[in-house]
Amino acid sequence: MSNRFTANTQPIPILVYHQIAAAPAKGSPFRSLYVAPQAFARQMAWLERLGYQGLSMTALEPYLNGHKKGKVAGITFDDGYLNNLSNALPSLTKHGFSSTCYALSGLLGKTNVWDLETGIAQTALMNEAQLRQWVFAGQEVGSHTRQHIDLTANDQNKCRLEIALGKTELESVVKTPVQHFCYPYGRYQPEHIGMVDTLGFVTATTTQRSRCHPEMDMLQLPRVPILRSTSLPVFWLKIATAYEDRRKK
Ligand SMILES: [Zn+2]
Repeated sequence: MSNRFTANTQPIPILVYHQIAAAPAKGSPFRSLYVAPQAFARQMAWLERLGYQGLSMTALEPYLNGHKKGKVAGITFDDGYLNNLSNALPSLTKHGFSSTCYALSGLLGKTNVWDLETGIAQTALMNEAQLRQWVFAGQEVGSHTRQHIDLTANDQNKCRLEIALGKTELESVVKTPVQHFCYPYGRYQPEHIGMVDTLGFVTATTTQRSRCHPEMDMLQLPRVPILRSTSLPVFWLKIATAYEDRRKK
């Protein structure tokens, strides 16, 4: 059990982004989840200037478990939008950063159909070839289930299938192990942590807001949301101070 828990000496922020694109028209729902490409570029440059290394979950894991020490930040993208490949990858590459994009194996090449009822605009998700391009460029793919299901609203068999196939289907696309998971909507119960553990995931991230501190569950890691409205000074506050640590989701 002990290796399920973090043992980092300094707080580690894991940034979470969704879309890297210009926001839709005013009044559209969830505009906060769009970070403009120029803003993302400035944030990555700023991260490097502050002395941080931006890392994928696989590269971050030795820092989380205390085997490595250094000024690091996890970079994660939820859902697998094509605009991550077109608009985030150039900045990541420029600064030598890696990141983890949590994709949905059942929706590759489709759109964010799970958002239809909330009215969020439909946007392209990476297809198989684009996901391989992402990995070939030095980035990582994590799993976010097959269909972006709410684990707390489905029976155990359905959840187990979504989590298991969400991993193996992606592995057959990118031809590398997929060992990092992200709970859709941040919703889960203890039994889902057990499934994620049994299926061999090394880390799992949530929508709980905080940097990672010692003795946190590797399968319930909190993150730091970076939103459309996040200015550079606030970006710094979120990463380098306790700004996010006392916030609830
Ligand atoms: Zn999601």
